[in-house]
Amino acid sequence: MAKVSSERKPLIIGNWKMNGMSATSRALTRELMQALHNHDACEVVLCPPFTALTQVRELISGTNMRLGGQNGFPADKGAFTGEVSMAMLRDVGCDYVLVGHSERRQHLAEDDGFIARKVFAASGHGLTPVLCVGESREVRLAGESERFVLRQVETGLSMLPHGASFVVAYEPVWAIGTGLAATTHDANAMLSSVRAWLCEKRGILAPNFNLLYGGSVDSSNITDFIAQSDIDGALVGGASLNAQAFAAVVLGAARGHTCTNK
Ligand code: PEP
Repeated sequence: MAKVSSERKPLIIGNWKMNGMSATSRALTRELMQALHNHDACEVVLCPPFTALTQVRELISGTNMRLGGQNGFPADKGAFTGEVSMAMLRDVGCDYVLVGHSERRQHLAEDDGFIARKVFAASGHGLTPVLCVGESREVRLAGESERFVLRQVETGLSMLPHGASFVVAYEPVWAIGTGLAATTHDANAMLSSVRAWLCEKRGILAPNFNLLYGGSVDSSNITDFIAQSDIDGALVGGASLNAQAFAAVVLGAARGHTCTNK
């Protein structure tokens, strides 16, 4: 099942992870703004560390770029030392928040139930949750990828209010930061299954959501990913830390979108 909308822009999200001091975050943002010249063929979202959100927000305000958090806690306030709420992310100007990134599932033991609460909290505060899902190498080798990913999608979205916007980012764990991207065929097949599941089991159709691929995306492969029928954009880690490399990804996504006239 192909995406329905032809006029929607590719969504390209840069996840800086735990990288960037104040000065380097500002420099990266400025260089990216210069490289893209307020380019508007893609929706570009920057997810810096919490400590740089305000500085990046000040620089991109008035441009087409949007701000996202890398994580948020599913309570509005209170005795949760070290956490940052979805309300706080909204307060500093975020429009998006990553939820359930595999690095948090792995290193911080986040489970699907906790992730579902984050999706609910994000949506309740006007943020678009970017639900990250993806199988490990073991699950893929066992031939269980689709079942595993659809279960993550089902649980992760189980508390999302009807009609709320969201993003699903399919990021196979074995492809993140390894230089070994999934094939365009495999990534598209997985997102096609997610799209069909959303439609058949939940009655949700585009444009309520975007489906992204993530995992070693760079300027050499983005155009082919975006040209696929069910890939609406990309979540980019490593390549988002270099302004020229990330700008090349954004421009490549715009080319992939135009070529196929999706
Ligand atoms: C990510 O962190 O979400 C990611 C996809 O990283 P990379 O692009 O470096 O594989």
